[in-house]
Amino acid sequence: MLYGYGGTILYVDLTSGNIRKEPLTKEMAEKYIGGEGFALRLAIDNIPVNVDPLSPDAPIIIGGPALGGTFAPPSGKVSWVMKFTLPADETGKCLIGSAKAGSANFPVAMKQAGYDAIVVKGKADKLSYLKISDDEVEICDAGEYRGRSPGEVTTALRRKHGMGVGVAAIGISGERGVRWSLAFQDSQGSIGRHGTGAIFGSKNLKAICISGTKGIKVAEPDKFMQKATEMYNGLRNHPATPLMQQAGYTAFMSVFENTLSQGNWPVHKLGFLHDAPGADTYIHRITADACCPMGCKCCLVVPRGPNKGRRTHIHALQVAVLSDRLEIDDPSQAVDLLTEYNEAGLCGTTFMGMADWLSRLYAEGKVSKETIGFEMKRDVESYWKLLDLIIRREGIGDILAEGHMAISEHLGVDVREDTVGIGIAKGCHPNYDGRFTTLDPLRFIYFVCPRPNHAGYHDITTVPSDVPHWPMPLQSIRDNYSKGAVLADELESAFEPVPYYGPGFNLGLATIINERNGTLYNAWGTCSIFPTISASFVGDMNELWRYASGIDKDMGDLVECADRIYNIYRYLNAREGFGRKYDWVEAWFTPRMTPTGPVPLMDYYRTRVLSKDDVNRLLDDYYQARGWDIKTGNPTKEKLREYGVSV
Ligand code: SF4
Repeated sequence: MLYGYGGTILYVDLTSGNIRKEPLTKEMAEKYIGGEGFALRLAIDNIPVNVDPLSPDAPIIIGGPALGGTFAPPSGKVSWVMKFTLPADETGKCLIGSAKAGSANFPVAMKQAGYDAIVVKGKADKLSYLKISDDEVEICDAGEYRGRSPGEVTTALRRKHGMGVGVAAIGISGERGVRWSLAFQDSQGSIGRHGTGAIFGSKNLKAICISGTKGIKVAEPDKFMQKATEMYNGLRNHPATPLMQQAGYTAFMSVFENTLSQGNWPVHKLGFLHDAPGADTYIHRITADACCPMGCKCCLVVPRGPNKGRRTHIHALQVAVLSDRLEIDDPSQAVDLLTEYNEAGLCGTTFMGMADWLSRLYAEGKVSKETIGFEMKRDVESYWKLLDLIIRREGIGDILAEGHMAISEHLGVDVREDTVGIGIAKGCHPNYDGRFTTLDPLRFIYFVCPRPNHAGYHDITTVPSDVPHWPMPLQSIRDNYSKGAVLADELESAFEPVPYYGPGFNLGLATIINERNGTLYNAWGTCSIFPTISASFVGDMNELWRYASGIDKDMGDLVECADRIYNIYRYLNAREGFGRKYDWVEAWFTPRMTPTGPVPLMDYYRTRVLSKDDVNRLLDDYYQARGWDIKTGNPTKEKLREYGVSV
């Protein structure tokens, strides 16, 4: 038997109803660990090259956390790998991405039902939900949930099948195929920003509902419990924990303020969240992923107006970002608007980016009232009208639903050339603007990661501005990085500064360490927040995994595992036609204008303005250190063979 694992990979074909189960092999566990590692490995054989992401042949692949279902703190991240639906450019090319979602029930239920990975393909003949309960797998009628929000479906399925079930569900925008719709895991964690909802919808799949009673046997129970308890107590007693439990990330708004700024100057409202009396009126409660004693997520409630009392789960930071970006003075109105798009299952970052861009184009006379369908002011009423059109897929809303490239073509204005917005990376908005944050390793990941995202890749340099210890002293960064997945000689090279970046470190090489850490956390299903606050590191998680699985890996083995998984991630996208020319955020090379002057793209210590040539040289370093082809930015055949991938 395999300790620490469910032991089975489940395949479901929604078209034929065929269910197949395969045992998880020890080799798979040793080479790919779990979570993202399993899901990406399975993608090689299960995602057909150039498949239409909305076709029945395009699967949803779910990687269960290696430490899920145990008492490992935390262990609530599930990896969802699929070919996403938001085109990266005008050719319509779509990327294969790995989206990480954290929540309380789903990761535990999946593992305790006995599944380490699930592959769902096909298309049900009517709106359905997939019910998995230990060994029983059933495709059930979901007609009664048509049009209902992820939160409503989650509650309804829990009432029907038990409060402990894990649920992944979509809203109406997923049913209607909006290419930037989301699915939600336990209505707590959003899955992806590139159309997970539309992919579920294309399969007539409203939800996946899972429960398990089998438990997980660990290899060395006493050592496991001792280490897990020690880590749990360490997290519970961390100085940040009481603040997080009170207000989630909102507690650190003053820390995040500058880096989250969206820059609709001179309006700048981020500060209101922690200053304004009344924030507690819309933060209903804080929630956490499985076995996390800290918690950083919020259940928000609309405090006033006709929708008073309506609730949704989202990071409260989004209230601040939305208010800042779309100039909404009243946080209550911001909560109301975000509740609407969240419960429709839409990506908030994409919605606010589109509304921001369109309203600026309208103000500049570049788009007309006839084109938009109404007078597009920068006010809440206009945003509601736009949102309504997108959800109903009517008029301009139908084109916006197809993504940035479709609306750019329709308007004859390329969104990638908008330098006042946050920028576009591979067809979507990155979460942060690198001009405000500096080009640190996380922001460089927006260039090079197949799916530009931050999940799993936070590091000590992302603990941002306005605090006395920022930017972090170099020694603190080095100490922190030395506890990641890195070999001694690599650490030396990563901290050798290069003239085309700035003092301290070589960004390209440091980024690889960050990516490796993130890949391991995503495989174990743990959280990258904790290393940023020096609460736990790769070594802690590896020790816990060793006691759980009995698999003993040293740092060299871990580095190899992480690189194997990441090379496969890049390879999957290379065979779809992605490569170096997509590793770019053009807008960031034009300084953002603020009331205090222009803000250009700079190195972490803000000593140099970075040119395109500088960033190209950093990309060269990155590809070279990865052992990839510098011209294409992709793994070579030899590199892939090293990891046992035959091409
Ligand atoms: S701190 Fe990490 S594990 Fe805890 S709730 Fe937040 S994202 Fe999840």
